[in-house]
Amino acid sequence: MRAKEYIALEDQYNAHNYKPLDVVLERGEGVWVWDVEGQRYMDFLAAYSALNQGHAHPRLVRVMREQAGKLALTSRAFRNDQLPLLAQELCELTGYEMMLPMNTGAEAVETAIKLARKWGYSVKGVPDNRAEIITCQGNFHGRTTTIISFASEPEYKQGFGPFTPGFVTIPYGDAAALEAAITEHTVAFLVEPIQGEAGIVLPPAGYLASARAICDRHHVLLITDEVQSGLGRTGKLLAAEHEGVRGDIVCLGKALSGGMYPVSAVLASRDILGLFQPGTHGSTFGGNPLGCAVAREALRVLVEEGLIERSAELGAYLMQAVQQIDSPYIQQVRGRGLWIGIELTPEAGGARRFAEALQREGLLCKETHKNVLRLSPPLVITREELDWAMERIARVLQR
Ligand SMILES: *Cc1c(COP(=O)(O)O)cnc(C)c1O
Repeated sequence: MRAKEYIALEDQYNAHNYKPLDVVLERGEGVWVWDVEGQRYMDFLAAYSALNQGHAHPRLVRVMREQAGKLALTSRAFRNDQLPLLAQELCELTGYEMMLPMNTGAEAVETAIKLARKWGYSVKGVPDNRAEIITCQGNFHGRTTTIISFASEPEYKQGFGPFTPGFVTIPYGDAAALEAAITEHTVAFLVEPIQGEAGIVLPPAGYLASARAICDRHHVLLITDEVQSGLGRTGKLLAAEHEGVRGDIVCLGKALSGGMYPVSAVLASRDILGLFQPGTHGSTFGGNPLGCAVAREALRVLVEEGLIERSAELGAYLMQAVQQIDSPYIQQVRGRGLWIGIELTPEAGGARRFAEALQREGLLCKETHKNVLRLSPPLVITREELDWAMERIARVLQR
């Protein structure tokens, strides 16, 4: 079948909740993907950072195959031999005492919200049903009804009310606004160390450290959503490390399974995660042996292949190359590690047309928020492959 026919089928039978580039992929390897007509492209999006380890990493494929043939799912009604090892390895790697496994990033965030509320009632002494969580304008934490309740993007919300109460929204990057928003009912501040979907928005230097200090001062939990920023994307294991900050609750997802399978997790201390009692929270697939086995290997690949250091090193190289592009369309370039947003001027006519032009050049990336071109290749990319990409990005932006 030709690409056109797949697209027609998808448009007929699949809900139109996305506007993908019209490229129909059938195979991937490392940073490269091939479409159904045999055309090769470089993947410069990496599934929004879920593919930090690259497509079809041989070690992940092997573990996936082996574990699928052994034991895929037990449900949490029984124990399995992979969950305890993932829990231990993830906690040792990140320095947290406990973890709770889920599947998608949104579920990790939902878990963090429930956990913070439970902590608020049972530890902080907030009166029943009065807990407040502070969130930021421009946030992206997933698509569930509760999470979109505190989204500021109208597209995410319109037509989906009524919304879950208990959330307050403040400007991102404004520590004074955080302190001013805290009340005796505030249980947590939920924040992305760098806002990914908003267009790779970096807060002012020192913001996270200030937020940490403010949360400590007011007995409020700091929840860092590292679903996209974590696991090497910014050149550190967790993006909050750039400011020496540790969230009380951390959400991980995306690259936790190297793109093989949905695996997410919440990390926290025993004082906090220990508040969940049997029956209070769960997931049929969360903690399944297939997901756990592949996540264990995905973490080992990240560390053993030096992908975190590579992101820092090649990210600086990419940033320099992007900054050297002389284009009337570039308004601002920002990012950290192999995660760069190119904000275009209003005259550029939107980022979509540049993403489409890059597709014709054999490079796949995606616009975010109309006027930002997002660069986030798999972290396994080489310097030569980056040069290959930069040649095309520069050409398209200079046209
Ligand atoms: C992608 C993302 C999520 C949601 O993850 P899903 O797996 O799509 O549910 C949550 N938070 C952040 C910061 C994300 O980038």
